[in-house]
Amino acid sequence: MKPCRIEVINTGSELLCGSVLNTNAAWLGERLLEHGLRIQKLTVVPDGEAIIDAMKACASRADVVLVSGGLGPTSDDLTRDALAELCGVPMLRDESIVAALDAYFAKRGVGVSPSNYRQAMVPQGAMVLPNDNGTAPGLLMPAAAGRAMFILLPGPPSEFRPMVEKEVLPRLIGELSGEKPGLQVFKCVGIGESHVQDAVDDELQSIPELELAYCARPGEVDVRLIGRAEVRSKAEMVLRRVLGNYLIEPQYAGVEFALVDYLLAQGLKLATAESCTGGLIAKRLTDVPGASAVFEYGWVTYANIAKHSQLGVSLALLDEFGAVSEQVVREMAEGALARSGADVALAVSGIAGPGGGTAEKPVGTVWLAWAGKMLPTKSEKIFYPRDRDSFRRMVSTRALAGALQMAKSL
Ligand code: AMP
Ligand code: MG
Repeated sequence: MKPCRIEVINTGSELLCGSVLNTNAAWLGERLLEHGLRIQKLTVVPDGEAIIDAMKACASRADVVLVSGGLGPTSDDLTRDALAELCGVPMLRDESIVAALDAYFAKRGVGVSPSNYRQAMVPQGAMVLPNDNGTAPGLLMPAAAGRAMFILLPGPPSEFRPMVEKEVLPRLIGELSGEKPGLQVFKCVGIGESHVQDAVDDELQSIPELELAYCARPGEVDVRLIGRAEVRSKAEMVLRRVLGNYLIEPQYAGVEFALVDYLLAQGLKLATAESCTGGLIAKRLTDVPGASAVFEYGWVTYANIAKHSQLGVSLALLDEFGAVSEQVVREMAEGALARSGADVALAVSGIAGPGGGTAEKPVGTVWLAWAGKMLPTKSEKIFYPRDRDSFRRMVSTRALAGALQMAKSL
């Protein structure tokens, strides 16, 4: 395979102040990977002198440098000047661009401002890439000894994306031969990031050519595998062998999809008894098409009296141990199982905060329980002191993952 080191520079002060999201980079990374190409390094710079510094740094490292932004008519649009300086060539006025600008503005019935003609200046030796959706054409400067090929494109995504499709991808795809790398994401639920890494990292790191990334979110860890199909399948075998119990198949967008599918396939039913998640677990289940066949009963029993009257939790137990306790959450799950006639029931009770915590049960404390027909009830305590949204998301994911595990052991 021919090596092709691609670097990207996104220019624009707005990208660094957070007023514009750098969607060009995310979109480009995804689009290139679909063709087996990777961005090796991404640099984001403010408008001005930083652009030339970044271009110089990339010039000797990369085979291809893609630059977005800074091709407009204003004084801070310096990318084409930077390219001329870098290559040590003069800027020449391109009459075909002048004619195109004149035609563009004439069609709109407005005069061309002299600053627009800055866009007609082309560093000597560069090829003009037409822009069908705006006035700033792109530029391609072929590689020279010790210097990468530079491709300059306008920043607005409505111009950038079509030009990548039309002018960039066809050129870069020609640079690659051999089998292309692909991306696969495996989700692990019910296990923390460091445990995932402890369990599989050594083995995965020993697979040649595999690129590996972990990404933790509330209640789940994504393991991203990048590489050729053969390389990824070696890694997949490791994940399945070591983390099989925690893995969600890649076709599922979340644990709720895997759970509903499993219950459907097995003809099983699930009931939920929620306190601190306020119905989020039921919401996530009912987000899945087909959930009605497996989910008939879901309780939100927020107050003690509701836990007692709806699920049969004993008042004495609530009094003695409090709502956030192993005893109560187990009775919630068992009550939900008995009253619904389901095969599996889950229950959660916790302190989402910011108020309501005590020294013994600080904000973030949750008890979860899973009851299954003919199985001993399981319970677990977790501690996740975060904002209410992350807390509820985490608790709901853990509860759903535990329900899937219990359903599998029925
Ligand atoms: P420019 O080509 O630098 O004049 O960029 C014009 C506009 O395109 C900016 O004001 C942004 O709104 C948008 N833009 C520039 N760069 C990006 C980027 N990397 N991602 C998303 N939008 C961008
Ligand atoms: Mg700009």
